[in-house]
Amino acid sequence: MTVSSLHLELPALPSELMALRREVRGFVAAERAAGGLPYPDKVGLGFSPEVSRRIAARGWIGMTWPRRYGGHERTALERYVVTEELLAAGVPVGAHWISDRQSGPVLLKFGTEAQKQALLPRIARGELAFCIGMSEPDSGSDLASLRTSGTRVDGGWRINGAKLWTTNAHRVDYMIALVRTARADEGNRQSGLTQILIKLDSPGVAIRPIRSMVGVQDFNEVVFQDVFVSDADVVGQPGHGWNQVSAELAYERSGPERWLSSFRLLAELVQAAGPRPSDASAMEIGRLFGQLMAVRQISLSIASMLQAGKTPNLEASIAKDIGTRLEQEIVRTVRNIVHADALFEGADLPALRALLASAQRYAPAFTIRGGTGEILRGVIARGLGLR
Ligand SMILES: Cc1cc2nc3c(=O)[nH]c(=O)nc-3n(C[C@H](O)[C@H](O)[C@H](O)COP(=O)(O)OP(=O)(O)OC[C@H]3O[C@@H](n4cnc5c(N)ncnc54)[C@H](O)[C@@H]3O)c2cc1C
Repeated sequence: MTVSSLHLELPALPSELMALRREVRGFVAAERAAGGLPYPDKVGLGFSPEVSRRIAARGWIGMTWPRRYGGHERTALERYVVTEELLAAGVPVGAHWISDRQSGPVLLKFGTEAQKQALLPRIARGELAFCIGMSEPDSGSDLASLRTSGTRVDGGWRINGAKLWTTNAHRVDYMIALVRTARADEGNRQSGLTQILIKLDSPGVAIRPIRSMVGVQDFNEVVFQDVFVSDADVVGQPGHGWNQVSAELAYERSGPERWLSSFRLLAELVQAAGPRPSDASAMEIGRLFGQLMAVRQISLSIASMLQAGKTPNLEASIAKDIGTRLEQEIVRTVRNIVHADALFEGADLPALRALLASAQRYAPAFTIRGGTGEILRGVIARGLGLR
């Protein structure tokens, strides 16, 4: 087995997508050859505004958005192919990932015409990056309990409170924050929440980095002290934030990033094992690939549902729960193979060992970020009418 044989093929996809897949592979190969795209030595999305701008120049950010907002009017499956290829190759897509996947679509669906015109073309050019401001120090799974407040003032709102675990807040331009702008109605804890665009260089915003146990600084605590935002910065209708956030979740939970986080590690293992891994290792590797292909089919079906304008939150929860647990299993299995297979004993494999070391520290996050496994299983049970 060689690394090139690991490329994911899906005969059921329309054949024209293979041309696009080849185009992305050609881009990655050319970038690698030119030295502009080093192989990653850690799992997790690398962050490079330069790489994001080069990806944007190929038309691969905002792919499904209307042309009048800088998009390219391509299909969700075309976008899927591009993101899948970039992730499988370990390309640092972090600088545009959240804006392309989530913030842009939210603005497209709920934003004002002025917000769409001002922000979407710049996102599609790779010039503007966003972060997600949902979790708080005491509100994660129980998001409706959040306490960051927006108080009505002349011409807008005054924001006070804190967001936590905000990925990339220290290096992006905007947050779309979920804040409480009105007391919740009796019997409806999710009412009174509003999504607000906050420019992160506004007076009163303090961004405090948090270093993760992987040894990188990806996320932050963001504190708001009397931050003024104008009425023009409200996304959608005040008080309707919960429904808007719920609509985001299908985008957040079902994409290839929910099953490909440790793929580079597996690819590196296969390359290191060469054409003759032990029978036991070959069996384990084959089993993981079989499972990856099954999760991929689920994830792809959800991309088709999104394309059809549906909001498949239940299906996306299934994809994320199964996909992220598999991502963790890949790390465990690779570690077991590297420790147990005589082929690897004393072998000089710095790339594999570096990826494995970071993956072991990163893996717990796979089933936490974007909603924990326990919460997802609750969503699934509710969706099936079991609770
Ligand atoms: C790498 C990473 C990046 C992140 N990036 C962002 C970001 O950019 N923006 C953002 O807003 N957030 C971000 N988060 C935060 C993430 O969304 C939260 O960590 C997650 O929703 C869980 O919330 P919590 O940490 O408060 O844990 P808690 O909600 O306190 O949960 C603790 C434990 O209790 C369990 N639990 C809680 N409630 C229940 C229940 N009702 N039934 C059963 N079990 C339950 C949970 O499953 C979990 O195991 C990120 C997290 C990570 C790890």
